[in-house]
Amino acid sequence: MKYDKKRRRLQLYFLLLWVVILLQLIIGVSGIAHNYCPQAAVCFGCLNLGQNLGNWMYPGAIILGLVIFVLTMFLGRQFCGTVCPFGTMQDLIFSLNKKASKRNYKAMIPVKTHNALKYFKYLILLWVAVSAWLGINYIYMQACPVLALGHPQNLTVLGATSLFIIIVIGYFIERFWCLYLCPYGALLNISQFMGRILHIPRKKVFWNKDCCIDCNLCNDYCPMRIEVSKSEAVVDVECIHCQRCTLCCPVLKKQKNK
Ligand code: SF4
Ligand code: SF4
Repeated sequence: MKYDKKRRRLQLYFLLLWVVILLQLIIGVSGIAHNYCPQAAVCFGCLNLGQNLGNWMYPGAIILGLVIFVLTMFLGRQFCGTVCPFGTMQDLIFSLNKKASKRNYKAMIPVKTHNALKYFKYLILLWVAVSAWLGINYIYMQACPVLALGHPQNLTVLGATSLFIIIVIGYFIERFWCLYLCPYGALLNISQFMGRILHIPRKKVFWNKDCCIDCNLCNDYCPMRIEVSKSEAVVDVECIHCQRCTLCCPVLKKQKNK
């Protein structure tokens, strides 16, 4: 349980930090939201980098993006499980839905549909990257939830749609945005694929096959719909290291309580 408390506390700290930045953006004392977003390098494309170098915060966001990209090769998507304010927001929103059984919400999206839909975020990432190089990146920016929250005075229909998905659909389907739509999640998956090619050892969640009683709780409770019990280490790049699979295990719980 210690890990969970520590992670949740960290999530709240990062969320608070984000709220402070948001408030500063909204009242106009902190420039523009791109300055704080690790995805900015993709949204702007390397070609546009030069003209933004005059603003010290913008290269700061590029460096932040690079640091997270490289760290993800070693640590997996810890960013998604601990740092990202949109991940934390979705966790909080879903936790308000007392009627949703964590085990049954998955039935709303059948496995086959889920397996097809989870690639959609890569298409969005491709669209973001290509449109940046073509100089039409403003189309994705209209849908960007970071900009929608940071600059509500410029809210577009697409931006409102993204927030609707995160807040309203996220109430019924846990981490819906992360599972299917977030281009940054797709980018962090690509970082892990690159890590594999470079033979970089990545931190993984392990479980003990010997003590398994085939209750399937780990599979049912994983917010990223990973079949945890298929192997002893979670190799799936979608893992956000929330550790819920190990925390819900009745055998491990019993061992800890002894
Ligand atoms: S998938 Fe996207 S929204 Fe979800 S936690 Fe990761 S970066 Fe944040
Ligand atoms: S596999 Fe475990 S640690 Fe990874 S996302 Fe699923 S529940 Fe969380």
